[in-house]
Amino acid sequence: AEETEAAEGGVLVMATNAEFPPYEYYEGGEVVGIDADIARAIAEDMGMELKIEDMAFDSIIAAVQSGKADFGAAGMTVTEDRLASVDFSDTYAEAKQVIIVKEGSEVKSADDLAGKTVGVQLGTTGDILADEIEDGTVERYNKGAEAVMALVQDKIDAVIIDNEPAKVFVAENEGLVTIDDAYEKEEYAIALDKGNTELLEKINASIKNLKDSGKLQEIIDSYISA
Ligand code: GLN
Repeated sequence: AEETEAAEGGVLVMATNAEFPPYEYYEGGEVVGIDADIARAIAEDMGMELKIEDMAFDSIIAAVQSGKADFGAAGMTVTEDRLASVDFSDTYAEAKQVIIVKEGSEVKSADDLAGKTVGVQLGTTGDILADEIEDGTVERYNKGAEAVMALVQDKIDAVIIDNEPAKVFVAENEGLVTIDDAYEKEEYAIALDKGNTELLEKINASIKNLKDSGKLQEIIDSYISA
């Protein structure tokens, strides 16, 4: 894979979908969050300026492959499928998919989703899990918040989404509850164009620094209260 022009110009371009609090979201017109802070630390280590490109989640891998972005940082779970298209850095966070339902819902477990209409964000691991539901109907949205809004409005029965954004969305909307023990653990990493080992090594070195110095935990703690 060739080096991107952006990288040569001293600007490091991060692709993300800034609809995923607390990992990336807008605050006062600026993209903030755990991934944004990690990426800023990486850029700083490399002596480069970070530029964040906000796009649909399911466009991030293509942006990385085409060189439009140097890397993708978007609470992105490492999966076998994605490893066929991109390389991943060392992992920096654990997560899992959870089910959000309305209080009093008859859905108490993943099995109870059989025959239900489930909302997800397009192209996410939640989308893949929803696809496997027996006799289920999947409604795909561009933003997790839109799926949650559809649930609030009784247009769908449940939402499958990552645990941390789920916490934020449940806190913002009354009458929602989360089923936390439905699915397996996942791990987040930064996606890079296949074969871009130079940047991969730099990113992994920065991630190691962040972990060893305690800075990573500091960043996480500044966005997630225990
Ligand atoms: N972790 C999920 C995935 O990788 C969702 C990420 C996101 O919506 N930003 O598919």
